[in-house]
Amino acid sequence: MKVFSRNNIKKILKEKLNLCAFLHHTPWKSSKIMVFFILGLLLVGSGAFYVNSTISAVSVSVNGTEVGLVSDVKSGENLIHQFLVDKGAPLGVIAKTYDNIEYSPLRLRNGDVRTLSKEKLEEELSVYIDGVELAIDNKPIFILPKQEDVQKLLQAYQQIYVQKTDANQVDTVSYEEKVETRSVEVTPEEVLTTEETLEKLKQGDVRQEEYVVQPDDSWWLIARKNEMRTSEVLAGNPGANEDTALQIGQTINLMKVFPYLTVIAEGVRTETETIPFDVVTKVDSSLANGETKITQFGSDGEKEVKYTYAQRNDKIMTKEILDERVLKDAVSQVVAKGPPRRPVVIAFSRGSGQLALGIIWPLAGRINSYYGYREGEFHTGLDINGYQGDPYVAATAGTVVSAGWDGNYGNSILIDHGNGILTRYAHSSKLLVSARQKVSKGQTIGLVGSTGRSSGPHLHFEVIINGDYANPLNYLR
Ligand SMILES: [Zn+2]
Repeated sequence: MKVFSRNNIKKILKEKLNLCAFLHHTPWKSSKIMVFFILGLLLVGSGAFYVNSTISAVSVSVNGTEVGLVSDVKSGENLIHQFLVDKGAPLGVIAKTYDNIEYSPLRLRNGDVRTLSKEKLEEELSVYIDGVELAIDNKPIFILPKQEDVQKLLQAYQQIYVQKTDANQVDTVSYEEKVETRSVEVTPEEVLTTEETLEKLKQGDVRQEEYVVQPDDSWWLIARKNEMRTSEVLAGNPGANEDTALQIGQTINLMKVFPYLTVIAEGVRTETETIPFDVVTKVDSSLANGETKITQFGSDGEKEVKYTYAQRNDKIMTKEILDERVLKDAVSQVVAKGPPRRPVVIAFSRGSGQLALGIIWPLAGRINSYYGYREGEFHTGLDINGYQGDPYVAATAGTVVSAGWDGNYGNSILIDHGNGILTRYAHSSKLLVSARQKVSKGQTIGLVGSTGRSSGPHLHFEVIINGDYANPLNYLR
């Protein structure tokens, strides 16, 4: 900001011209003249020295405190304007200030220049921007620069869960929470961009809770009790993996994620689904005990399914099949099997009738939760550990009573085996049978999932006898 103004230069030139005129009109060598000449030289010299060694400048003060110097008022104003523009630029707005800014002209010595710097403005000037606060269920969550940024954010978040395509006709989209905005005046640091807020919305509100390990707990069971995934529980406990032993009474961390915003959508979707092939086993006495041989390879079929749905974020809450069209039939796999080593038949009696039931495990896996009272709640079945998409089978032959969405059970199948005996298979990712269909023992009827009230993939298996839940372990061997 060390600048000579045009006036200073003019002044120097003018003084030099005057001196020349004086010398031309006066005879030389007069002592008077010599005195004038010497005095004149001294005057000009000191004047030139004054002009050369001082400059005009403008002192800028913020609320009475000097913050630095600029060459003139205009450049001071420009500097502050640019500062406000730069402060708002990342957010696409111009910042403003309510501070009292004053400009006072002064002269100062060369080298004595305290130029107004951005750093000083950063320290002394209070800047604000007009933002838009987004509140979810009356709780302020983020501040964005403009209303249109809020709209962009909400649309981008919706787009994650709801995509309108030819195969997905979306009828309604809304939020479960109350979404409101209001204008606020804040410091630029309090304002986030659309990209930053979208990232935060996607991550959700993460809150840490403590959990005390109970008898019979496993990582999986803790996840299930807390409506979390095993991987999520493990992530909150660095160093732990599924095989890490848990001690009763030990405290572990649960990093629970609560979505800020829930997108509710309803519509009609058309999807192509695989029809898994059935496996038919035929006893072949020419084979050794327990020996098997595939005599016909199976192949999956395909069907087009059209259904109405209601979803909350990424979870399908209800699903109702409107139409199913088989595009390609599945071909059964035929397995020849030698005579069994021992028949799995369990006989039991209840009520007046003598019942016989041979049931097989619908899914091979560890038991994560047993039948009976667990933590004050009655658990009506067995939870068998499985992986998402694992096929499970009918425990014995019967007729499908229902196959579809059933509240907390999620996608669930109920099979009637006659004599008052029913079995239920809950939380499936996919159902492969439909109501009134006859199923054989060991037939694949669904795929393991985590739908309904479930926190990780497993099969909840129930045995119901004459309307009462029974302990499946009494019949499974
Ligand atoms: Zn269960």
